Amino acid sequence: MIPVIALVGRPNVGKSTLFNRFTKSRDALVADYPGLTRDRKYGDGKMGEHQFIVIDTGGITGDEQGIDEKMARQSLLAVEEADAVLFLVDGRHGLNPADEMIANHLRRSNKPVYLVVNKTDGINEDIALADFYSLGLGDLYSIAAAHGKGVRQLIDVVLAPFIEQVEAAREAIQIDAKGIRIGVIGRPNVGKSTLVNRMLGEDRVVVFDMPGTTRDSIYIPYERHGKPYTLIDTAGVRRRKHVKEVVEKFSIVKTLQAIQDANVVICVIDSHEDLVEQDLHMIGYALDAGRGLVIAINKWDGLSKEDREHIKKEVERRLGFVPYAKVHYISALHGTGVGDLYDTIEETYESCYAKWTTNRLTRILEDAVAEHQPPMVKGRRIKLRYAHQGGSNPPRIVVHGNQTDALPGSYKRYLENKFRTVLNITGTPISFEFKSSD
Ligand code: GDP
Ligand code: GDP
Repeated sequence: MIPVIALVGRPNVGKSTLFNRFTKSRDALVADYPGLTRDRKYGDGKMGEHQFIVIDTGGITGDEQGIDEKMARQSLLAVEEADAVLFLVDGRHGLNPADEMIANHLRRSNKPVYLVVNKTDGINEDIALADFYSLGLGDLYSIAAAHGKGVRQLIDVVLAPFIEQVEAAREAIQIDAKGIRIGVIGRPNVGKSTLVNRMLGEDRVVVFDMPGTTRDSIYIPYERHGKPYTLIDTAGVRRRKHVKEVVEKFSIVKTLQAIQDANVVICVIDSHEDLVEQDLHMIGYALDAGRGLVIAINKWDGLSKEDREHIKKEVERRLGFVPYAKVHYISALHGTGVGDLYDTIEETYESCYAKWTTNRLTRILEDAVAEHQPPMVKGRRIKLRYAHQGGSNPPRIVVHGNQTDALPGSYKRYLENKFRTVLNITGTPISFEFKSSD
């Protein structure tokens, strides 16, 4: 239910600059396999209270032949996935014929389009904007993506129509999606639907109908051994008559939305193929979103001993950036290991929502500091005084002290390990916030 915003425009108008400002991410999810263009980049946008998914597109030059085709194939795909489109133009270069072509396409798209004039820092805005009224796309929004000028105001306008809808969806989820919300994600053909069917087909599982509340019946509420769960199904199981029927087109937007909506994400990986960037990007996204994470290496049946060893090494080598996530080797087809997955899901969920008192957290902090002092900065030792909990899913620990801005990354990792070990936090990242009184 998180709104999706697409950035469209010529190259060099500032789309990636704006994308980076929205996502502040080191790592955007890049579509990089057959059937999806390399030119679309997905990210998790945040501005104040607003949350959205942002898609950056490669850009359309006016020079290439067959612009219609290019536009249709690349940017229009992003436009189709989007709830709103930001059409960026360059306030320093004035109107360009390519802008007019893009405008023509967008006018036919039936999506809300916002004409955004970028790079208006240090120039006369009225003159910069004047050129673009002729595009006939209504109001103009003046920004400087590189400096953040006008960006927040723009997002407030663009997302205003979605606020109620997002709120309503959130409430519907709270009411209808009972128990742990489990997102099942992964590339096409890794075995997501086989796993979903297996999880729902277990003994003593009762599947409920979710009365038309959420999009595409992607939520599947059920009970297992009397406990409520909701599966968030990105594979489209409900719409397939047979597992083998390939109805669903893989959608990164759907994957990102599932991650956002889930408490715990199962990332399914195909052991018959090497880990690819796309797997790592999805996992990275779950990490950034702070979700509980379980890795399911699927199709473990019928592999040779050598293959298994090779895969285990690969997993160890490449998934080092999510050391907290448990890895399960399963066969969705035969059901092997699926029961164990539930144990890890439960454990992870407990960690996601555990509650700790300020006393307890402060004690752990004091012990950690006594064992290993923070370094000196400019002749003064960094002081860490007390800690309290700031939130859940992911668990958030707020540490108060002095000069915490100067705390080195290595010390933060030391603290994270301490808290993780003492509090027995598994399956979820921990979010730390350091607050300094000087
Ligand atoms: P893209 O090709 O549309 O993704 O454009 P980029 O984000 O790569 O930006 C192209 C160039 O414009 C870069 O050199 C940016 O530094 C510059 N740029 C982007 N935003 C601004 C801005 O707000 N003001 C100014 N002066 N330059 C900008
Ligand atoms: P999805 O696209 O991720 O939903 O993948 P599917 O569940 O449709 O599975 C793709 C193919 O992999 C199908 O032919 C499945 O039968 C097969 N498959 C799924 N899980 C397993 C497994 O554990 N072992 C084996 N050998 N094949 C599997």
